[in-house]
Parts: sequence; C-alpha cells; structure tokens
Amino acid sequence: MTENPPARGTAGPVRQVRPRTEGWKQQKDAAGRPLLQFASPKRGKPPVHLADLTADERAAKVTELGLPAFRAKQLETHYFRHYTSDPGEMTDLPASVRDDLVAGLLPPLLTEVRRLQTDRGDTIKFLWKLHDGALVESVLMRYPGRITLCVSSQAGCGMNCPFCATGQAGLTRNMSAAEIVDQIVRANRLIREGGLGEAEHPDERVTNIVFMGMGEPLANYARVMQAVRVMIDPQRGLGMSARGITVSTVGLVPAIRKLSAEGIPVTFALSLHAPDDHLRDELIPVNSKWKVDEALDAAREYFDKTGRRVSIEYALIKDMNDHAWRADLLAEKLNARGRGWVHVNPIPLNPTPGSVWTASERSVQNEFVRRLNAAGIPTTLRDTRGKEIDGACGQLVATEADVAAAASS
Ligand code: SF4
Repeated sequence: MTENPPARGTAGPVRQVRPRTEGWKQQKDAAGRPLLQFASPKRGKPPVHLADLTADERAAKVTELGLPAFRAKQLETHYFRHYTSDPGEMTDLPASVRDDLVAGLLPPLLTEVRRLQTDRGDTIKFLWKLHDGALVESVLMRYPGRITLCVSSQAGCGMNCPFCATGQAGLTRNMSAAEIVDQIVRANRLIREGGLGEAEHPDERVTNIVFMGMGEPLANYARVMQAVRVMIDPQRGLGMSARGITVSTVGLVPAIRKLSAEGIPVTFALSLHAPDDHLRDELIPVNSKWKVDEALDAAREYFDKTGRRVSIEYALIKDMNDHAWRADLLAEKLNARGRGWVHVNPIPLNPTPGSVWTASERSVQNEFVRRLNAAGIPTTLRDTRGKEIDGACGQLVATEADVAAAASS
C-alpha cells in the first residue's frame, strides 16, 4: 500500500490544499501540536435526573423522599411516554407529593433559547441553554417513514478539528446522560404537539438518533452509554431500537473497543475524512494519537463483535481529500480488512467560495464514489439536510446572536 499521491490514472500534477483554520487560531499544546482536551473542565454538575439513574437508584431516590418505590415507575411513564415533567399533568400522583417528586427526579435541564425551522417545516434546529449557561444544539429532521434527531453529547468539543466551528472554542464540559436524553424527550413532545408538521401516524416520535451534534461522544463515554441504555430500555426508558442509534467518532480507539464489548448493536460511524496519516494528522488532530490503521482495525473489530456494518464518514473537500488516489487507497485499506463489513458515506459540503473548506466538484464527487463502488465498497453520497439552517454536523456552534439570546432568556 502506498500513502503517497501517485495520481493513479490521472495526468499532470495533483493539486493538494492543506487544512488550515480560517478566521480563528487553533489552540496548541506545549509541543506545538493542536491541543486535545479529553478531560471535562470542572464546572457545577447538572442536577441529577431520573435518566441519569439505574432502576434501583431511581427507586432508592423515591424512597429517600419518603415515598413508595413504585412512584418511580409512574414518573418514568410521565417522562418517557407522555414526555412531560409538569406536575400539573401527573394526575395519577397525589397532589401533595407531585412537586417533591418532580423536584427530586425531573429537574429542568434544557431551556429552549431559539428554534429555527426550514420553510418546509421538516427540519428544526434547537438551541438549548443548560443549567450553567452552556449552550448546545440539536437538529430534528423528518424523512418519509422516520424522524431523526441529531443530538449533542458535550458542550463544545476538545478534539480541535480545524474545519469545525464547535471545536474552536474547546470543551466547555461533558453533558450528563439526562441532558442528552432530554433532547429526545423535548423533541418527542414537540412532535406530539404537531410542531414538526402533519403526523404520519398518531404515535409518531423520534425513531433515529445520530450523535453528530456538538461534541465527541466517545470522549464522554460513560454518560453517552447511560443515555443509550435509557434510549433502548423498553420498560424503563424510551424503548427505541439500538439499530436506529448512530454513535460516531473521530477515532478514539480504546473507546471504540469498549463500545464493541458492550453488546449493544448501535450503528457505529467512523468520521475518517482521509485514508492517509499524512493528511489526517492535520485534518483530525486526534489522529496524532490513534492512526488511520488503528482506527480501521477497531472499526473492523466493532463489526466482528456486533455484526453491524460500520459506516465510514468522509466529507469531500475540494482538492484536499477528494483525489482519485485517495478513493483507491481508502478502498484498499477497507478491502484489506475483509468484505461486507463496511460502507462509505461521502458527505458533500456546501460550496464556500474562497475557503479551503469548500465542496468538491460534482464530477470529482462522482468519480470518488465510482472508484469505491468499483472496488466493491458500497458507497452512497449522504443527504446533508440541515445545512440551509446551518445545522449540519460539524457546523453546530452557538453564534454571538445565540449567546445574546441566551443571556436574555
Ligand atoms: S468535528 Fe466533531 S470531533 Fe471535531 S471538533 Fe468538531 S465536534 Fe469535535
């Protein structure tokens, strides 16, 4: 395998645009490399909520309040089935205990600061303020037969990718499991109230989750996994299908291995964006810790352990990573690890004239996809709905106007 650009099948020199930040400076570590933040800065913890706790812990908490343990189940029904934390709606609970139960187990976590909706009404971006003022976003998208929510798992992100607006401010803090789950419950509530247009059926709710909002989910492993357990628990949680949940990562290899061993068949997506370390070291700074081959080995192991086909995410950036030889190298590396275990989702960017982060030419996109498919790797260009409201993955960042709106809400 070669990692040099030999321009296979092409005549003339290959233009190579190098990654760089635009309009902001990447924070560097003592060695001059892009700073990576794995530990969450110490900030006041969000209040403990039902969704942070196991079934036993919920019962214990209710007992602490001097109430019988079965009250926990009633609260679960209100929150996970009726999508409410409003004591006034909990008429099956004695009025005298509702406020205490809600204060103890369903404290408010997300304050809606702003909502942007596309003209067709089928995509909504929410900006949420957390208890400590940190801002995060989620994006809700209706498709025929499914509703997808793109959730945030951290306020900010410590992975420092040079193309990503979220990464530039660094990591504010990890979100709690309940803060992650509450994004779904709030979206379900809105869907039930008709906020996402006409329902296809009366029990419509979020069916698919993608962890592609703010943050690197595997850097907040324990809380993300608790959130996933709550999402899929049919009795004591949201009862969603694990297959409908996509956990994506820029390649935190030890955490990918841990995920493989969980025995939960979520869909796993590796945001690769380059098949060669030379480019990926610059494009995805965490590649300085875990190289392309290590990330691909861990991804293959995920398939081996779970039987779930892995997605490789690949944003096509003009003259940076969209070369024919890179499509060939990617195919080689994937095929070297076997057949039938992976598919590739090239993501077309929006054209951004004058930026190094601009869309590949349509013909180049098509050639990239064609080469992978010809090498036996199933490859489909991904839908990038959400861009029209600036809600696409990696662009999720609070603008100054969002911050001002939050301050006055
Ligand atoms: S692209 Fe993802 S991992 Fe990289 S800085 Fe942005 S949110 Fe973090």
